[in-house]
Order: sequence, then structure tokens, then C-alpha cells
Amino acid sequence: MEQKTNILVVKDDVYVNDMLRGLLGRKGFSVQVSTSGSSALEMLGHESFDLVLLDLLLPDIDGFKLMDHIHRHKPDTRIIIMTNYASVESTIKAFRKGAKDFISNPYAHQELLTIINNTVAQKLAEIEKKRIEEELRRFSYSDGLTGIANRRFFEETFNQEWRRAARSSKSLSLIIGDIDYFKAYNDTYGHLQGDECLKQVAQALKSILKRPGDMVARYGGEEFMALLPDTPEKDAARIAEAKRVAVESLKIEHSQSPINATLTISLGVATTIPDKDTASKFLVAACDDALYRAKTDGRNRVKVSTLEHTKPTNDELTNHSGQ
Ligand code: GH3
Ligand code: MG
Ligand code: MG
Repeated sequence: MEQKTNILVVKDDVYVNDMLRGLLGRKGFSVQVSTSGSSALEMLGHESFDLVLLDLLLPDIDGFKLMDHIHRHKPDTRIIIMTNYASVESTIKAFRKGAKDFISNPYAHQELLTIINNTVAQKLAEIEKKRIEEELRRFSYSDGLTGIANRRFFEETFNQEWRRAARSSKSLSLIIGDIDYFKAYNDTYGHLQGDECLKQVAQALKSILKRPGDMVARYGGEEFMALLPDTPEKDAARIAEAKRVAVESLKIEHSQSPINATLTISLGVATTIPDKDTASKFLVAACDDALYRAKTDGRNRVKVSTLEHTKPTNDELTNHSGQ
């Protein structure tokens, strides 16, 4: 059900207030009136209004002060100034303070209704814009197939966590997992079934992670990366083993796998205490190297990186690239 637009009229003129209540009520708005600044403040305290029609000349409070209060405490409430006499200065001041429009006597009812409708339409458009932006943001950070974080989100988060860990001298771990013989799986069961399988594996890998700072992302086709802040190597290796078991426990039939009757995953683990002179890429490379060893050692296993002691500095990484 669509909610009625809620309007508060703040004006020290009972006759005009009654007229506005009738006029706007007939147009389908919900209208409340207040003849003083203090009672308006009270009403604003326990109710949300979409729009306030505000006279700047009130018996008790300066209208501009009331505007400031509304902006501070009710940022979603739009304000239209209504006044019998408006100097150029006060008009400018009201707009500068964020009034959406200004109407002064004499005005035609149609004029007032047009101004109100425009302001309401503008507010709805702004809300819709925010919603779409939020949706796009979420969309651009999640993987379309599995719904978990995508590589881009992983990379942004990884760089943030790298800097954070460097500042606090805490260990940061990565686990990369790659499904074993997945090409053969697709060849046997078809690409659609392969996609289904990727979704299940993603959920299984995600279910292992318990801390709010942990993340798992789809890093490539059938590769998944987990980022574990403040996690030492021993714990990361244990989590990787839990991931391996979680995939095995899915018991997804894989008749063409040379090593097992069901689908398996190989995982590489790398841990470091980052320092700001070391490139974060190093940890990904170390993790990849561990995965490679898990594959060549027979798959369906976890290997921990042994590259930590040879880690290159940022400079070295830059110098070596492109040669
Ligand atoms: P290994 O054990 O060495 O990892 O062998 P593998 O077959 O898993 O590795 P390879 O890199 O040769 O093949 C990966 C396959 O993953 C290729 C492709 O068929 C499949 N794949 C990648 N992305 C997707 C996807 O989005 N959906 C499906 N269904 N399959 C994918
Ligand atoms: Mg792969
Ligand atoms: Mg693979």
C-alpha cells in the first residue's frame, strides 16, 4: 500500500491553516498544523514528515532556527517556506539553508499544489536514486553465479586488510581453493550442472568462515579465495582443511575424477605479517605456489606456503616486472 505524503504546516494563522488542511487533505495528503515553533518541534519529535510548510515569522522561535533543527534531526524532511512578506535577503538565506522552494502571498492554490507536488516528486526521485546506487554497489561486488564476493571486492578488501595488518603487525592469511578435475566434470555432466556445482561449493566454503572480518570470494572460474585477517598460519591451515572436508562432504558425484568418486578441492595457504614495504601480491603468489604443490602432490589436500622467508620488497617486485 502506498503511504500518504505527510505534511506539517507551521504558521501562526488559524484561518490559513484551516484552509491548507482542507485544500491539501482533498488532494490526498495527510496534513497536520502547528501555530508555534515549540509545538512544531514537539510534533517533529515523535513523527516523521515528508514536507514542512514553514512560515519564517513565528511567535516564539525564529523560522531559520527551526529550519536548522529540521536539517540536523530530520534530514529527509523537505522544507518549503511560506511567508506573507519575503525580503530578498530572507529568500536567499532560506535557499542557502536548504529550503526546496519558496512561496509568498498572494499565491494561487494551483501554484501551491504544483510546488508541493514537485518537491514530493523530487524527494521520491532522490530516494529511488539512492536505492539504485546501493543496488549497483552490491551488484558490482558480488559474483553473479554464486552470490559470494567477486574478485574485485576481494582485491579491494585485501588491500585494506593488508594496510590494517601492517599498522597493527598482525598476521594475515589467504587460502586459495581450486576444484580438482573440473574440466572433466563439465565434460561429463554438462556446463549447467557445473554451474550448479560451483554454487554448492561456494556455499560450503563460505559456511566454514565464522568471523565477521573473514571473506570468501570467487577468484576465477573454479577458484575461490578466502581472506582471513588476524589469523596465524596454524589456524589458516586448519580452516583450509575444514574447507577441503566441507567440499568432500557435499558428495557430488564425479565419475571421471582419477582420484576420488566425488568432487574434491585442492587448497593452498599463505600467511604473513605484512609490512608496508612488501607488496601484497607476494602473498597471493605464495598462496598460488602452495596450491600448485597441493595439485602436483595428488590433489584433494592442503599445502602451506614455504615462500615466506624469501618475500620480495615492493621495489624488487616493480624491478622484476616487465623484464
Ligand atoms: P585441476 O585439477 O588441475 O584444477 O584441473 P581442472 O580441470 O579443474 O582445471 P582446468 O584449469 O584445466 O579447468 C578448469 C575448468 O573449469 C575449465 C572450465 O570447464 C571450468 N569452469 C571455469 N569456470 C566455469 C564456470 O563458470 N562454470 C562452469 N560450469 N565451469 C567453469
Ligand atoms: Mg583453475
Ligand atoms: Mg581446477
